[in-house]
Amino acid sequence: MSVKDLQVDALVVGGGIAGMQSALDLADQGYRVALVEKEASIGGKMIALSKVFPTLDCCSCITTPKMSAVAHHENIELLTYCEVVDVAHVDPGYKAKIVKKPRYVDEEACTGCRQCEYACPIDVPNEFDMNLGARRAIRVPFSTAVPQKAVLDIENCILCGKCEQICPTGCIDFTQEPQRFEIEADAIILATGFGLTPTDAKKEYGAGQLLNVVDALTVERFLAPTGPYGHVLRPGDGKEPDSIAYVQCAGSRDKTLGVEYCSRVCCMYAIKQAMLLSGALPMADITIYYMDIRTFGKGYEQFYQNARAMGVEFVKGKVARITEDDEKNPIVRVELIDEGSKVVERMHDMVVLSVGMLPGYNPQAIYGVPIDASDGFIEIPSPNIEPTVTNHRGIFATGTAAGPMDIVDSIVMAGAAAAETAAYLQSKNGLALKLPVSEQVAAMEVAHV
Ligand SMILES: Cc1cc2nc3c(=O)[nH]c(=O)nc-3n(C[C@H](O)[C@H](O)[C@H](O)COP(=O)(O)OP(=O)(O)OC[C@H]3O[C@@H](n4cnc5c(N)ncnc54)[C@H](O)[C@@H]3O)c2cc1C
Ligand code: SF4
Ligand code: SF4
Repeated sequence: MSVKDLQVDALVVGGGIAGMQSALDLADQGYRVALVEKEASIGGKMIALSKVFPTLDCCSCITTPKMSAVAHHENIELLTYCEVVDVAHVDPGYKAKIVKKPRYVDEEACTGCRQCEYACPIDVPNEFDMNLGARRAIRVPFSTAVPQKAVLDIENCILCGKCEQICPTGCIDFTQEPQRFEIEADAIILATGFGLTPTDAKKEYGAGQLLNVVDALTVERFLAPTGPYGHVLRPGDGKEPDSIAYVQCAGSRDKTLGVEYCSRVCCMYAIKQAMLLSGALPMADITIYYMDIRTFGKGYEQFYQNARAMGVEFVKGKVARITEDDEKNPIVRVELIDEGSKVVERMHDMVVLSVGMLPGYNPQAIYGVPIDASDGFIEIPSPNIEPTVTNHRGIFATGTAAGPMDIVDSIVMAGAAAAETAAYLQSKNGLALKLPVSEQVAAMEVAHV
C-alpha cells in the first residue's frame, strides 16, 4: 500500500478508547480526522480487558463496535502501525511527519484470512496475552483486531517463505520498507494513553522473578473469553489456584518508586477481578490486601459492598514483602492494621499485583507540550475550566495521557477534547466552517446576543 500526504482538520494520536471517541465525535460533526496509532490495531488497553466495572459488561462487546465505527467512518483516515516523528507549527496549523512501519504485507490486498498464520512454523510469546500464550511470526494481531490485516514480525521470521506460498492474494512482501508521509492538521489531540508499573519494579515483591506473582492485566487475559488458557491457571505450573491474593497500591502511592499519586482504577479493577474469579473458581478464597479502598464513581461503592457480600476477604494491611516456598507458592508478609499492626506471613497459590498507571508517552520533544512535573502526565494548565487544553495552542490532551482515569472518565474527557477542538477550529476558521447555512445564521445570532 502506498501512503500519501493528507490534509485534515484534526490529527488524533493514539487509538485507545479516548482517541477513538474524540475522532468519532469530531468526524460526526463533519470534521476530517486522521487517527494515527503506533500498534498494528486500534483498541488500546481496553480491548485486552475481560469485563468492565461497575457493570461487568463484556469489554470486547463495547470496544469492537467503536473500533469498527472508526475504521468505516467516511471522515476518518485510520493509520495504524504509524508514528509521528516530527511536528512543525506551520500557521494556521501543524505539519506532522509520519513513518509507517513495514507490515511486510500489502495492507490493501490482505483479506485477514489467516492462512499465513496457520502455515507459519514460528511460535513466539504473545504480547497481547501478556506473553502467556504463543503467536506466530506472521499473524493478525488478535481476533477482534481492526484492521483485520496480517503483520509479520521480521525479528523472529526465518524467511522460510511458507506464508508467501499459501497466501491466496500474494500480498506478502519481504522487501517492504518504512514509508514516510505528512499530515497537515489545524489541531492535534494527544490520546497516547498510559503505561503500567513493571512487575520487576519492586524488589520487595520479588522483582518479577516469582512465577506465581502476576500483574492485573495478566489476570484480565486469564478471564477474557479470548484468553490464552480459557481457564484461570497459575503460570508457574498450570495449577488451578485455590487461594488468590491482591496486593493493592503495588506501584502507586509509593515514594520509593517516585509515584506518589493514586492510580484511581486499581481498587475497582481488583474488586471486579475478585468477583469474576469467584465466578470462574467458586471454591477459591480471594483476599485483597489494601491501604484504603477508593471507590469514588457512581455505583462503585455498591460494587465494593457486593464483593464483600460475595465473600471476598478485604484485609487492611500494607504488604511489606513477597517471597515463595519450595512449591513456588507466594508468601505474603503483611502488617494487619486492624489487628494491632500484627505482622504475619500468609501463603497463597497466586498473588496479583494491582499495578499502577504510569505516563505512557512524553510529547515534549516532538510536540513541545510539557508534562506535569508532579506526575509525568501531560500538563493541563487549567483543568477546571479547560480540561483538555494544553499550554500549546491547538494541541489538546485526553484520556489517560493526561492522568490516571477509568474508561467512563476517558470517554467523557474524549468528548470534551472533541468539543474544545471543534470550538478552536471554529474560532480559527470562522463560524462558516462545518455548519449548514441555517445553523450558521442561528449560531451568529446567538453569538451577537
Ligand atoms: C488491569 C486493568 C483493568 C482495568 N479495568 C477497567 C475497568 O474494568 N473499567 C474501567 O473503567 N477502566 C478499567 N481500566 C482502565 C482502562 O484501561 C483505561 O481507563 C483506558 O484504557 C484508558 O484509555 P486511553 O485511550 O486513555 O489509553 P490506552 O488504552 O492506553 O490507549 C492509548 C493508545 O495510544 C497508542 N499510542 C501510545 N503512544 C502513541 C504514539 N506515540 N503514537 C501513536 N499511538 C500511540 C497506544 O498504542 C494505545 O493504542 C483498567 C486498567 C487496567 C490496567
Ligand atoms: S494469507 Fe495473505 S491475505 Fe490471508 S491474512 Fe495472511 S497475508 Fe493476509
Ligand atoms: S517466512 Fe517468516 S512469517 Fe512467513 S511462514 Fe516463514 S517464518 Fe513465518
